[in-house]
Amino acid sequence: MRTSIALFTRDLRVSDNPMLYAAVAGADRVVPLFVLDPKLPTPPNRAAFLLRCLTDLDDALRDLGGALIVRHGDPVTEVSRLIAEHGVSDVHVSADVSGYAQRRQGRLEAIPGVGVHVHETVTTAAAPGSLTPTGGGDHFSVFTPYLRRWQTAASRIPLPPPSRITIPEVESAGFHDVASGEGLPAPELAEGGERTGRALLSEWVDGPVAGYADGRDDLAGDRTSRLSPHLHFGTLSPVEVLYRVGRDSQGAREFGRQLAWRDFHHQMLAARPRTAREDYRPRGDRWRDAPEELAAWREGRTGYPIVDAGMRQLLREGWMHNRARMITASFLTKTLYVDWREGARHFQQHLVDADVANNQLNWQWVAGTGADTRPNRVLNPLRQAMRYDPSGDYVRRYVPELDCIPGAAVHEPWNLPVPERRALTYPGPVVDLADGRQRFLSARNA
Ligand code: FAD
Repeated sequence: MRTSIALFTRDLRVSDNPMLYAAVAGADRVVPLFVLDPKLPTPPNRAAFLLRCLTDLDDALRDLGGALIVRHGDPVTEVSRLIAEHGVSDVHVSADVSGYAQRRQGRLEAIPGVGVHVHETVTTAAAPGSLTPTGGGDHFSVFTPYLRRWQTAASRIPLPPPSRITIPEVESAGFHDVASGEGLPAPELAEGGERTGRALLSEWVDGPVAGYADGRDDLAGDRTSRLSPHLHFGTLSPVEVLYRVGRDSQGAREFGRQLAWRDFHHQMLAARPRTAREDYRPRGDRWRDAPEELAAWREGRTGYPIVDAGMRQLLREGWMHNRARMITASFLTKTLYVDWREGARHFQQHLVDADVANNQLNWQWVAGTGADTRPNRVLNPLRQAMRYDPSGDYVRRYVPELDCIPGAAVHEPWNLPVPERRALTYPGPVVDLADGRQRFLSARNA
């Protein structure tokens, strides 16, 4: 009797999961395993979301005749233990890109006496490393040529869930203490799990995606998919998302382009795992040490309403609109000239969708140390506010101290008549925008 292990990582689903599918197809019995690894930090928002994902995955596996087996500790040690206890012949795992995931994969492959199968196109739509520039090199560092290759690369057809799973008698530790980390989750956190993810995807495909090209930057309209936490934890498959969205409308094509950005960052991190910490393109920055300004930024009290709205959306929902991520990140790294690592750390602590590839490399992109071909551009938060929140509704939703100011005037509370300004419990600006911009540009030219 052949027994395999399906080691779940960032692929917490039964539908379109080539890792699970192959494990079931190639053995009589499968151990569907998830290891809670203390080396991987799970702050409260991600812990709460993960707990829902694991509960849902367990339910889905039980419907198929199996169950989720949970262990705590080092995944490779736990896999080795199960191999010895149950005569396992094969281990299946999905490929992933961080330095930690790549080392884990290498350690699994070094276990003697078992076949270790690493599955691509589970966590990304295109396998990192499968697309390389014509002129040579192991990865793309510019998005447009990557997109061209990505769009013409063949994609696979999504797989159904396995029809049945038989598991051996295996002890399982509970996973309910996954959310016992310090602190409480955000009050308006999204719900995890494959079922929720699939329902969101169906709603998205049935309508809103068609208006995505026009609506994706509309801060108040909130017209993006909000699929990012599901793509991060793998409760949705990027291959299936692309397949279901199709390419019929302009919105669908623009949406596909964003998923290409996701793959682009993943292939960069796969090739250069150290860019999780180190500049992709070092510029010799001498970042400012500005603890009070950094604290004001984190807490959403910089005195710039559009920046503060974004930062408070993060604290309230564990998620932030992409346009607000760009505005707040540019404000920190350029206007305040504070190290992108400080911002990335705060986002990782709070974002429910935080992942090393998308977070660190988007931070580097905005800071100008990454793949942006215009690294010295500085976003003006006021101009951004007038363009992407012309009604001011986004700001009023997240900064209640300002909800008495109608229309776009909410973006410039300092222009109110003095008595009204004085009546506000809202701080003055932490920095003059022109001074901040000049300081950044001078540092770049020094
Ligand atoms: P949609 O607009 O509906 O896009 C669909 C999907 O495309 C997203 O779910 C996401 O998987 C992908 N996508 C969209 N934009 C990008 C992008 N710029 N880069 C890579 N993938 C993208 N995204 C994360 O998933 N995790 C992060 O930790 C993260 N950190 C970020 C930090 C900064 C400073 C910035 C500027 C962006 C960051 N992003 C991150 C990218 C983007 O902001 C989010 O993916 C997006 O806001 C998620 O919302 P959505 O699912 O509604 O996106």
